[in-house]
Amino acid sequence: MDRVYLDYAATTPCDPEVMAAMQPFFYERFGNASSPHFFGRRARKAMEDAREELAGFIGAKPEEIVFTSGATEANNLAILGTARALKPKGRHLIIGAIEHHSILEPARQLAKEGYQITYVPPDPTGIISPFEIQKALQSDTILVAVGHANNEIGAIEPIEDIGYLCREAKIYLLTDIAQTIGHIPVDVSTLRADFASLSAHKFYGPQGVGALFMRKGVTCGPWLLGGDQERGRRASTQNVAGTVGMAKAVGLCRNRMDQEAGIQQKLRDELIDAVLSGFAGVVLNGPASNRLPNNAHFSFPNTDGEELVARLDLAGVACSVGSACTSGQLEPSHVLKAIGLSDRMALGSLRVTLGRWSSRADSARFIQQLKIIDPCKKK
Ligand code: PMP
Repeated sequence: MDRVYLDYAATTPCDPEVMAAMQPFFYERFGNASSPHFFGRRARKAMEDAREELAGFIGAKPEEIVFTSGATEANNLAILGTARALKPKGRHLIIGAIEHHSILEPARQLAKEGYQITYVPPDPTGIISPFEIQKALQSDTILVAVGHANNEIGAIEPIEDIGYLCREAKIYLLTDIAQTIGHIPVDVSTLRADFASLSAHKFYGPQGVGALFMRKGVTCGPWLLGGDQERGRRASTQNVAGTVGMAKAVGLCRNRMDQEAGIQQKLRDELIDAVLSGFAGVVLNGPASNRLPNNAHFSFPNTDGEELVARLDLAGVACSVGSACTSGQLEPSHVLKAIGLSDRMALGSLRVTLGRWSSRADSARFIQQLKIIDPCKKK
């Protein structure tokens, strides 16, 4: 069966050009980037070139990039590393209520260790107001964490404004750019972020590699211990092939991002129109504008989202209820609850995310199969 992939927010295919760029680093050009001999120096050079490429793309300096295994590790490092290093200064953190679990869980861990966490809710469209962040600031606040764009409902957050007030208050800002890098412009200076986390597999690079941008001079202890790699900020042999692939993915996005975003947004808008006009009672979650160009997220009344996704999958169409990391949970998504959806609407959710290889034929197949399943019909 021909299958249609409409779950690019969960992961993207690795671009064949990325795979080609990585390939030599598994054998012909292998080496441990910490080894002082030729093989190591060669690997190190490739990795440092990759660091420069990634840094340049997000407006950072190469030495401000710490390679990690992905955004989860980057978020853990920023939150736990900062909180523990700044413990004498303060023990209060402000976290967006719709953050990814790789931010929520370390925060929950810190709460067990005596830190105080304030969760700031979004408005009904998923936007976190800088004003609400400001209200939550305390004299002992050490970190604010708000993602650049939400991975479920695609809301793009006003990070520049949040960054402005964090900087005024001399409080660190962590923003998770996993869903925005390679899809919309990201510049850590414009955003006024002190930390930014990302994963290569969200923008046509390989899985298992990512980075944390750490602004020069920030206080953040290492999290993984056992080696001096990444200037002592993250122990473990570096994933040279992965960083080379990530840099190649950056290069491709640099050239294509604007055009691809335009194409995906047009296709996505047509898909949204078709769903909203074709099914009674369905709602679009997330903001109308200030939304990732490839994201559509719906709630169907009286529908079990997990079952809908399973039926679409049987028909050859891959979508998700929300985040891939939480699928299989019977609880309604914390994001959908935070924007005020009832359990009934939150459980009937469907996320459709487009990408580099999405076509009009793909969205037509999705609509056709959705009509056959007819999630809104009275049961
Ligand atoms: N943050 C966001 C916003 C994400 O969408 C994801 C992936 N679902 C992550 C963090 C975690 O990325 P990874 O699983 O690659 O570590």
